Amino acid sequence: MKAYAMLGLNKAGWIEKERPECGPLDAIVTPVALAPCTSDIHTVYEGAIGDRHNLILGHEGVGEIVEVGSLVKAFKPGDVVIMPAITPDWGSLEAQSGYAVHSGGMLGGWKFSNIKDGVFAEFIHINEADANLALLPEGMEPETGCMLSDMMPTGFHASEMAGVKFGDDVCVIGIGPVGLMAVGGAALRGAANLYAVGTRPNCIKVAREFGATDIISYKEGPIHEQILEKTGGKGVDRVLIAGGNVDTFDTAVRMLKPGGSIGNVNYLGSGDYIKIPREAWGVGMGHKTIHAGLMPGGRLRMEKLSAMVVNGRLDPSKLITHRFEGFEHIEEAVALMKDKPADLIKPVVRVK
Ligand code: NDP
Ligand code: ZN
Repeated sequence: MKAYAMLGLNKAGWIEKERPECGPLDAIVTPVALAPCTSDIHTVYEGAIGDRHNLILGHEGVGEIVEVGSLVKAFKPGDVVIMPAITPDWGSLEAQSGYAVHSGGMLGGWKFSNIKDGVFAEFIHINEADANLALLPEGMEPETGCMLSDMMPTGFHASEMAGVKFGDDVCVIGIGPVGLMAVGGAALRGAANLYAVGTRPNCIKVAREFGATDIISYKEGPIHEQILEKTGGKGVDRVLIAGGNVDTFDTAVRMLKPGGSIGNVNYLGSGDYIKIPREAWGVGMGHKTIHAGLMPGGRLRMEKLSAMVVNGRLDPSKLITHRFEGFEHIEEAVALMKDKPADLIKPVVRVK
């Protein structure tokens, strides 16, 4: 089969690979719509998880099932399904302890384009299909379904981790597609003042539509100084991080009220340490909590989030700025994600 892969550090391209085999709990899927992710870029061009050779990229997509294993109960060939970015082993001890996402070791639930071939292929292997797939709801276009693989569940996870409550003042750092979903999630959880940090005009427009009350540019001075000025020196209750780098934690801690919390979903592609400012962290006693996590996968989560979309709570298709037709356009879509032109939020490729 044909696939688009990481050939080695800084190199991506087309390869031929064996079609994957279907185990008893698994499914084999062919793509209907696919989307590249900023994480694919960190992986190939920053070497963020180390070198990989001929590893198929991609972890966001909707596909049609062509084969299921003998023990699969919930799905059959012909079903159109959302493929989640994270596909844990649900029988693992880590899953039993509440962290399926770390099944088999830290970040072990993140299999696609990390420890196994991803979805930019003519045939895709899904482990534990019953637990890791969800039907694309009737009437939802596959391109929108792609936003449920990773963008919506990851962005929402930032506010889950930070524990956004009714009336909280919230700052979302980074309003690419993940941060925009964090804005939407925080608004749905009842944020009062909702500050969004970013500069791309398209992203700013959608941030406002998803509920941002104020926009801050990180290019116009330290973010915490701008937030402290806007809040009369008080700061915010929650900071959701979906952009920036290892230094972003410094500014986040500085703008956080005592008792506040941070939810980071940003993938730190480079740097060895994050910095926590000692005094602003209450010299170790400020009750300022930092949560950082990979989004939990799972069918239940995808079914719940897609039910929110079906019921009009939020429209993730607003993230889609570039549409391509044809599998071969994966290459262009990945290049867009790498170059991040000013008008880009998220590209999608319709395959069939
Ligand atoms: P984008 O690159 O599209 O967006 C990044 C955002 O951060 C932009 O709004 C950008 O602003 C802003 N930004 C850039 N530099 C800074 C800075 N120095 N300070 C503050 N803000 C800054 O990324 P995505 O939305 O696609 O993804 C966000 C992150 O989430 C990525 O690292 C991605 O790999 C990660 N991720 C994590 C997952 C998880 O499960 N934890 C899953 C999926 C993705 P501007 O408007 O100027 O471009
Ligand atoms: Zn992704």
